[in-house]
Amino acid sequence: MALIVQKYGGTSVGSVERIKAVADRVLKSRTGGNDIIAVVSAMAGETNRLFAIANQLCDAPDPRETDVLVATGEQVSAALLAIRLRAIGQPAISFLAHQLRIFTDSNHGRARIKSIDSESVLQALKQRNIVVVAGYHGVDAKGDVTTLGRGASDLTAVALAAALDADLCEIYTDVDGVYTADPNLCPNARKLDRISYDEMLELAGLGAKVLQHRSVEVAKRFNVPLMVRSSFSDIPGTWVGHEDQSMEDVLVAGVTLDQNQSKVTIVGVEDRPGVAAKIFGPIAAAGIVVDMIIQNVSADSRADMTFTVARADLKRALELVEVIARETGASGVRHEDQVAKVSVVGCGMRTHAGVAARMFEVLAKERINIEMIATSEIKVSVVVNNRYGELAVRALHDAFLGAGACGPPAGAS
Ligand code: ASP
Ligand code: MG
Repeated sequence: MALIVQKYGGTSVGSVERIKAVADRVLKSRTGGNDIIAVVSAMAGETNRLFAIANQLCDAPDPRETDVLVATGEQVSAALLAIRLRAIGQPAISFLAHQLRIFTDSNHGRARIKSIDSESVLQALKQRNIVVVAGYHGVDAKGDVTTLGRGASDLTAVALAAALDADLCEIYTDVDGVYTADPNLCPNARKLDRISYDEMLELAGLGAKVLQHRSVEVAKRFNVPLMVRSSFSDIPGTWVGHEDQSMEDVLVAGVTLDQNQSKVTIVGVEDRPGVAAKIFGPIAAAGIVVDMIIQNVSADSRADMTFTVARADLKRALELVEVIARETGASGVRHEDQVAKVSVVGCGMRTHAGVAARMFEVLAKERINIEMIATSEIKVSVVVNNRYGELAVRALHDAFLGAGACGPPAGAS
C-alpha cells in the first residue's frame, strides 16, 4: 500500500470526457489499497483565457486581484473531478490551498511555498477519500490567494508529495514522458526511461516544457521520486531521480533549442576594472535576465562585450545599453535579434571529456557558424543564427542520440 500523488495537467482535464477518463485512472490507481491525492491544473486554455479578460480591462491588472481571478481555473477542475469520482461511487473531497494551509509569501504571481499542513489531507485519506487538490495557488499570511507561477500545479504536487513523504509523484501530461529532443523537430527523438534531477533541471531551464523548473528543484531537494507520463495511454513514462551509474554511461540525455534569444554587442569598451559592473548593473536592475556573456579583449585594451537576452527583452535592453555605451565611452552597439541557443545536456559529461569538441565538429560539418559558447558541468550551449537552429538540433541529435550514435569516447574520462 502506497501513498501516490498524481498531477493532471490542463489537457488531461480539458473536457468532460477527459475528466471522466482521469476519474477512471485515479480509481484504478487505488487498486491494492493505495492512497491517492490528485492535484489538478485548470482545463486547457483556461488560465490564458482568464489572464486575457483581465488584460482587456487593464494594461497592468492589480496582482492581488489577478491571483484571485486566475486561481479559479484550478478550483473548477478540482470540483469537477471530485464530482465525477463521487458519481462513480468513489468517496472524494476537493480542497483549495487555504483549506490545506499551503502557506506562501505574498509575491503575487510568483509566490514561494513556505509550509504545508498535512493534517487535513491525512484526515481525509483516513476516511478513505480520494483527495483532490486545486493546484497552482497558495495563501499568504494575510489569508490572500497567491499563485505560484505559470505551470506551477507541478509544484503543488511535488510540494505535497514532499510534505506527506509520498512514495511516488506521478505527473500526467499529454506526452509519454521526457524526450531526447522535441519530436516535432527530430522525428527520431525517443522517450527516455530515466533522467537525473540535474539533467531535468537543465532541460526545463532550456525550454523543455514537460515539467516546471521549480518543481524539479523541490523534488531533488526532498528526494521525491517523479514519473512523467501520459494520461492518454498506459505506457510507462520517464523516471526523474538521483543520478546513478547507468545515467553516467549515457553521454548526452537530450538536445534542446531555444529560439527566443537575441544578442547584443557593445563594441570598443574600455578594458578596466568596473566596466562590466557598469554595463550589467542597470540591466539587472531593470529585471532583464542576461544569459550568456562573452568578452573579447583586443591588443589596444578595448573589449567587445557580447551577451544574450530573451527576445522579448531586447528593446528595453538596447535602450539601456545605448545610454551605458555613451557613458562608458564605448564606440558602438550592435545587435542581432534572430539567434538560437542549442544545447546538449547529459550528466555523463561529468566523467567523460570530449563532448564539446564533438559538438563543434558536428556543427562544422553542417557549416554552421558558432557565435557564442557556454559550458557547465553537464551542458554545452552554443548560440547560432536562428536560421540554422533546427538543423543544428537534428545534426546533434543524430550524432549523439541517433541510431549508431557515439557512446562515451573510448578511453576518455
Ligand atoms: N493553470 C496554470 C497555468 O496554466 C498552472 C498549471 O497549469 O500548472 O500556468
Ligand atoms: Mg504543465
